[in-house]
Amino acid sequence: MIELVDVNKWFGDFHVLKNINMTVGAGEKVVICGPSGSGKSTVVRSINRLEEHQKGTIRFNGAELTNDPKSVASIQGEIGMVFQQFNLFPHLSVLENLTLGPIKARGLERSKAVERARHYLERVRIPDQADKLPSQLSGGQQQRVAIARSLCMEPKVLLFDEPTSALDPEMISEVLDVMVELAQDGMTMVVVTHEMGFARKVADKMVFMDQGEIVEQSDPQAFFANPQTERCRTFLSQIL
Ligand code: ATP
Ligand code: MG
Repeated sequence: MIELVDVNKWFGDFHVLKNINMTVGAGEKVVICGPSGSGKSTVVRSINRLEEHQKGTIRFNGAELTNDPKSVASIQGEIGMVFQQFNLFPHLSVLENLTLGPIKARGLERSKAVERARHYLERVRIPDQADKLPSQLSGGQQQRVAIARSLCMEPKVLLFDEPTSALDPEMISEVLDVMVELAQDGMTMVVVTHEMGFARKVADKMVFMDQGEIVEQSDPQAFFANPQTERCRTFLSQIL
C-alpha cells in the first residue's frame, strides 16, 4: 500500500533521511521508534506530503507521490494523520471539528456528515462530548476526537506521530485502547511511538531509526527478543 524506496531528504545541508526503504501492506501495522531527532516524524510527514523528499520514491497504492500539488491532492483523505498536539480547531465544537472535512473537502451532505461524526465519536467512546469545545475536554478526550476526526475522512491509512506523548500518564491507555481496537478492525497504521506495550500487542513490523537511517526492521518478536545492533539494544534498554 505504501512503499518507500531509497528515500532521501535534506533540510538545507542536513541529511535528515538516508536511504529509507520501507513497505506498509494493506492492513499492516508498522511501529517506528528511535531516539529524538532520528527522523521518525520526517518519515511519516513525507508519506502524507507535509514534507517533500529530494531523492528516491514514495508510492501509495502503486502511484508515485511527487511534490506536484496534484499528487499531494490525490492522497488527501486517503492518508489520515494524528499528531502529538491534537491540532483540533479550538473555536469549533467537537462535532464541527468532525464534520468540517467531510463537508468542505468531500462535499458530504451535512446530515450525513453529522451521522458519520456521531458514529466515530461512539467508536472512540465519547459520544456525549459532541457539543463541547476542545478546551473543555481532557487531553485523552481531545486526542480521541482527533482520531475520530481522521476516521471521518474514511482514510485508507492512518499515520500517528507520538499520539500519546503529550498526555498525562493516566490518559495514555484510553487513547491506546482506541488505537488497539482500530488495529484489530484491520486499519492500516503507521505509528511513531515509544509505547512498546502497544507495539507488542499490534505491530506486524518494528522499525528502529537512528540518525536518519533505518537501523533495524523486523517482526516484533525478533525485535524485542534479539535486537541486532548495539544502538537498538541501548535504545530499548532506556525505554523498557
Ligand atoms: P522526536 O523524537 O524528537 O520527535 P524525530 O525522530 O521525530 O524526533 P524529526 O522531527 O524527524 O525527528 O527530525 C529529524 C531531524 O531533522 C532533527 O535533527 C531535527 O532537528 C531536524 N529537523 C526537523 N524538521 C526540520 C526543519 N523544518 N528544518 C530543519 N531541520 C529540521
Ligand atoms: Mg518526532
